[in-house]
Amino acid sequence: MNNGLPFPPKNDKQRKYVCFVCGKGFLSFDEYKEHIVESHEEGREFVCCPLERCGSPVRDLRLHFKVKHPHEKIPAKGQMKAVVWKDQTNRGEGKLKSRKPKFREGYLTSTKNGGKEMHYRSGMECNVYECLECMSEIISYEVEPFKVKYTFQGEMHEYNPDLKINFSDGHVEIWEIKPSDQTHLPKNSAKWESCQQHCEARGYKFMVLTEIGLNKLKQKIKNNL
Ligand SMILES: [Zn+2]
Ligand SMILES: [Zn+2]
Repeated sequence: MNNGLPFPPKNDKQRKYVCFVCGKGFLSFDEYKEHIVESHEEGREFVCCPLERCGSPVRDLRLHFKVKHPHEKIPAKGQMKAVVWKDQTNRGEGKLKSRKPKFREGYLTSTKNGGKEMHYRSGMECNVYECLECMSEIISYEVEPFKVKYTFQGEMHEYNPDLKINFSDGHVEIWEIKPSDQTHLPKNSAKWESCQQHCEARGYKFMVLTEIGLNKLKQKIKNNL
């Protein structure tokens, strides 16, 4: 068994292009590229090569430049690597060895939510939860409270915003937690536009919290102590 992952059998031609996120094989590079961009999360699971003639989804931009564009200058700005990846070198045995993750995943026991374990997928999410726990104007909060449908490049997708926060004055805020170097991605704009509409219809306030907003929160909490 191989954890149910769709690795084609050995020596299958379909293994020519193997998705580095889920292990699915493709015959053509175009199909492979389209699959990654459509099915996986840019910024988290892959980054795109900024060279216009290339644009390939990759997990390590420095490595990609070394191999594919050795004479081009590696961009100085922007995200260089996917946040999370699995090592598929052992795929013959069906084992996925996780590389040392660059992100923190875990649970935070929430006093605001009666001791419930709140799941976080990054250090930043964890930090935000810690802030929420300290803010007296917040009664409770939910992680991934609902799904919103959105269209991107003609196809329907679903998006889970990160947080629904209930304030003591009765107002509700929906927060998306995202590092600022991922906020410009077109797919994210499509998600957030739909979510904004969903929130407006319900009287919720929607916002995207980057590390800048998080630092402001931390500062505010510090000042109130
Ligand atoms: Zn995949
Ligand atoms: Zn490239």
